[in-house]
Parts: sequence; C-alpha cells; structure tokens
Amino acid sequence: MSSLPETPFTLHGGCNCKALRYTFPVPALASRPIVVPASADAGHGDIRLPMFNVDHCNDCRRASGSLTNFWMVAPRSDLSFQCLLRDGGEERIQLSGDELLFPSPASEKTFIVHYKSSHNDTFGADCIRAFCGRCGTMMSTGYFPWQLPIVAACSVQMGTLDREDLEKDGVRLERHLCCENGIDWVVKMVSEGDKGLQTSANLPKHPSWNMSDVMH
Ligand SMILES: [Zn+2]
Repeated sequence: MSSLPETPFTLHGGCNCKALRYTFPVPALASRPIVVPASADAGHGDIRLPMFNVDHCNDCRRASGSLTNFWMVAPRSDLSFQCLLRDGGEERIQLSGDELLFPSPASEKTFIVHYKSSHNDTFGADCIRAFCGRCGTMMSTGYFPWQLPIVAACSVQMGTLDREDLEKDGVRLERHLCCENGIDWVVKMVSEGDKGLQTSANLPKHPSWNMSDVMH
C-alpha cells in the first residue's frame, strides 16, 4: 500500500515556533518493522512503519480541535527530538522518542507539555499527548505502557512534517482508522475527496484501529 521510496531517507519536522524539532531516519524497506503481516484474505501485503493514516476517533478530534487528524505512525526508537531549553537561548538538547512522548526529566527542561487524554482498555495503556507549551502545536500521541506484541510505536501529527517532506514521493495517506467513531459527514468528505491520491483510487477503510478489518 505504501509507495514510500525503498531506499533509506530522512524526514524532518517540528512545532510551529520551532522550539521542538525532530528527525526521523527511515531505513531501507527490508528493515522497516512489520506491524501487520501480509494477508491474502484481507488482500494486503506486509504493513510496515512508517504508516500514514487519517484518524476519525473522538479522542483525537477533541484533543486536537481538528475534525480529523492525519498521523505518521513511527517506531519510537527511531525518532529523535532537538528541543530548545525553557530558560532561553538557542541551545538545543537531544531527546529520544520516549523522552519527548512521555514526561521525563529531560522533557521538563524544554517547552514540551503532556496531557493524558484517555485510557485505552484494549491496549491497557494511557494515551499521552505531547504539545509545544510555547506555540500549542500538538506533536504526538503515544501509549504508555506499551504492551502490544509489535514494535513500540507512536503517532506524530503529519502536519508537523516540513513542507518539503510532505511533498516527498510516497508520503501520502494510506488508510482511514476509526471510521465507526467518526462524524459521518467528515468521514464522507474525507473519503470522497481522496480519489486524487496517488496511492490508490479508494483508501482502505477500517472500522477501528484494527487493520485486519476492512470495511466494504
Ligand atoms: Zn512551538
């Protein structure tokens, strides 16, 4: 489904005021983690990270204030953040994905703020969102603790990617998640407007976060 380049490349992004910047080196295709193995029944190949999706869930809508959210799902260990210090100056400190996603001694020195928006019973984890406390950009969503039998992942708002990376070949939406929870007209609008995407004439639509279920 993904049409990302198969060779390594790097994505960059950050918040609106640039207090938080991140780097995401994407390895060659064979090294990208598989989160859902290929299924002949469901008609898809291996689903690997990074993955780009539209999320219609209510928690993301309320927390972001946006009718829908476009996420880049990435392995947490591959992300690194370069953050300005709260006490001023242009010095930046390097934070790992986990240090930014969740409250940590390192994140307290920066402009990052966190908010627990919900508890996901299916994942057995809290949904923790990271924002820039200076400009308000919602950067990411991550589950803590991570208890799923796949690589620890997080979701980064696609809108925080630098424009040249959003325009990069293959950086395109791949699927809709949580359609059943969405506002009907928003799901319809996003669906009917997606025919021009290069990845497919019609994106796969999943009733929930579970990508083994496809809506027909
Ligand atoms: Zn900011």
